[in-house]
Amino acid sequence: LLRLAPVVAHLNGAWSRFTSFQGSLANIKELLRTDDKTYLQDGHIQFNGLKKAIDFKAVDFGYNPQNLVLQNITLTIKKGQTTALVGASGAGKSTLADLIPRFYDPIYGKILIDGVELQKFKMNSLRRKMAIVSQDTFIFNTSVRENITYGTENVDEAAVWEAARHANALEFILKLPDGLDTRLGDRGVLLSGGQRQRIAIARALLRNPEILILDEATSALDSVSERLIQESLEKLSLGRTVIAIAHRLSTIVKADSVVVLEQGRIVEQGGYQELLEKRGKLWNYHQLQYDFSKTKLD
Ligand code: ADP
Ligand code: MG
Repeated sequence: LLRLAPVVAHLNGAWSRFTSFQGSLANIKELLRTDDKTYLQDGHIQFNGLKKAIDFKAVDFGYNPQNLVLQNITLTIKKGQTTALVGASGAGKSTLADLIPRFYDPIYGKILIDGVELQKFKMNSLRRKMAIVSQDTFIFNTSVRENITYGTENVDEAAVWEAARHANALEFILKLPDGLDTRLGDRGVLLSGGQRQRIAIARALLRNPEILILDEATSALDSVSERLIQESLEKLSLGRTVIAIAHRLSTIVKADSVVVLEQGRIVEQGGYQELLEKRGKLWNYHQLQYDFSKTKLD
């Protein structure tokens, strides 16, 4: 991990701006792979923001084309709404979300933004409008400040404090030996899972993304962390188009649209109440007394 940071820092354009907001090591690896221009071809249209919707049309995807992990995915993510992806571990939720910033392209089918194919947009213009708060936040071996501002240009001090405050991170940052200048990582202060997530939320807030992907953590957090994170995620989500990989019931209840995935296929989609009344998959989860806050769903 120590070695990855400088590599990331030297990549140009979209990747360096975007991937700093990526939590998982998988995505960092992806970053290195996609630096090879033959992997994903860049588009030429400037993305200036979402007007209506992101549409998946009969999308198939597999990390290996012989083994599809998403099949026939058709769904509409409307601007300004929250779309919750629900399903068991391995159902394909994170993979589906990863197609939106083009970590991967579909094998079959299309993803359209306001009717234009995703591949036609300049990748960096697309990714500049997006942020991901994911399960494992990548913390660089630098200061708290740099960890928060990484990838965002021309950030003034007040904005960093503001983002930290809204992310409910200020309190713990102020308790660190050098505040925002405290060095993190394995040569510095190690943060708890909840603290790392709040750093990720502060990063995303600074980016002010139009499209926000929330890949909620499955790991059990203490109830105080849980509440603080939930509160700051709500602030972060306000007025944005949100794709939430949700296991918290509260997120699912508040979503405008719920998509239930099983083994890479959409088995149910609609409003939360509507789906419960249908007494289908989502209702089943309830009957089984699934605890959405635990690891059964992720
Ligand atoms: P979820 O987020 O719903 O738990 P994922 O999208 O992470 O599901 O995974 C869907 C399927 O794809 C799983 O079978 C998983 O093992 C596989 N998978 C996920 N990431 C990769 C990867 N980078 N390479 C190969 N297979 C992967
Ligand atoms: Mg996942």
